[in-house]
Amino acid sequence: MTEPESAAPQAGRPVVLRGGTVLTMDDAGTVLRDVDVLVVGDRVAAVGPALEVPEGTQEVDATGGIVMPGMIDTHRHMWQAAMRGYGADWSLTQYFVWYYLEHGRRFRPEDVAAGNRLAAVEALDSGVTTVVDWSHGLQTVDHAEAAVDALQSVPGRYVLAYGNIQAAPWEWTADPAVQAFLERRRTGTGGLFDVQLAFDVTGDPAFPEKAAFEVARELGLPVSTHAGVWGATNDEGIRLMHEHGFATPETVYVHAASLSPDSYHRIAATGGSISVSTESEQSAGQGYPPTWQVRAHGIPVSLSMDTSVWWSGDLFSAMRTTLGADRSREHFEAHLKGDTVTQLSLRAQHVVSWATRGGATALGRDDLGRLVPGAKADVVLIKNDASPVSFPLLNPYGHVAFQAQRGDVHTVLVDGRVVKSAHRLVDVDLAAVRREVEATVEHLRADMGEDVWQSGMDPELPSAEVLDNPYQYTDYRSDSTHAAREEAFERHLAGER
Ligand SMILES: [Zn+2]
Repeated sequence: MTEPESAAPQAGRPVVLRGGTVLTMDDAGTVLRDVDVLVVGDRVAAVGPALEVPEGTQEVDATGGIVMPGMIDTHRHMWQAAMRGYGADWSLTQYFVWYYLEHGRRFRPEDVAAGNRLAAVEALDSGVTTVVDWSHGLQTVDHAEAAVDALQSVPGRYVLAYGNIQAAPWEWTADPAVQAFLERRRTGTGGLFDVQLAFDVTGDPAFPEKAAFEVARELGLPVSTHAGVWGATNDEGIRLMHEHGFATPETVYVHAASLSPDSYHRIAATGGSISVSTESEQSAGQGYPPTWQVRAHGIPVSLSMDTSVWWSGDLFSAMRTTLGADRSREHFEAHLKGDTVTQLSLRAQHVVSWATRGGATALGRDDLGRLVPGAKADVVLIKNDASPVSFPLLNPYGHVAFQAQRGDVHTVLVDGRVVKSAHRLVDVDLAAVRREVEATVEHLRADMGEDVWQSGMDPELPSAEVLDNPYQYTDYRSDSTHAAREEAFERHLAGER
């Protein structure tokens, strides 16, 4: 006997998602129509039509929906989620000034925890079941403990990539307290939680980051690094890592946007992967989102969203914007040569794969990112019967990449546990998360003072010149209507928002 889907999910019970279109993301990219996915314990037990299920299995009606593996984000500064949207108009320089130089130190352990908890809940809600928390606000081990405790209070899969922008990598990695923390918190079990190291390589020829890489090697932990970030990290950093033997298959190169072919060859030759944050690269300015050239080097790609201080925390946005940026560049490069692109190289299936299997590859997790028997049961059902966008369901990969959004995420399982059911998060006290985040915002605002808080959110706009138009009969600068409009616009920019 099975129960209807209205029944509250119960831990430990098998779950079957009935009658969906299943993106298995297996090696052949198999898509199955009108099949069931059975989850028993923490694993996918079976995928197929009209499955027999154990007694007491919870039923979820997946008809008309898409069942896919939980998505994986390989680079997200979760502690910054408490500042959601604040930096929407920032450049990368303004971000660096705000967090690295001026205000990052104001974050207390409880503020890191507040951001992490919100980011974790937000990820689950949008079907992102694994997140690498690129946690570079860990000024003290107390901050790190708070970060991990917050993650572990939300039932997702997390990798804490330990970092500290307030000290040099060779300083904080040498701290015995940090090393003890990493030893204590690491699991290495391929379970729900693990740790990495997160730091950047400036390209200083003395390669001071060598000591930090040696700590990582000593501890047996992978390193994630912001690479190819215009004005911050470049080819020299890649060359130094490679020549000193620290470019390894576990290494994740985040952005890798402003690099030469030589750096891509070094990354490809050593088996590393690239985490592309297209929304971030497009507006912050690390470099053009690199998938259009990374593809030619055969380097594995995963997707990430970077930080909610600017961008959206769902990977639907990441898939969509990555397709757009890649195709845009492919057309642009062709037009420069007078050519026309008649067949697109990057397909919707590719970005869905990067959002699932790509993340699993980056993390060395063959048991994630696929819906095949034996895989870990991180499962997402996209289904929204109330939405006119839910049908017709003709091209499932295209539907995920260009049509679906976080509001369409109906059911989410992590490690076989139902964490979102019928569009509602299960056992999440969102009001408590909200109170915690409000306390952080209040603290920062009071600590900075109102003027600094406001001006941080409203960066100065460079002056824009309107070009003279040769097709206008009158000089528009002397035209009174135009002058009045321009004046109104200036007033608007001056703060009358
Ligand atoms: Zn980042």
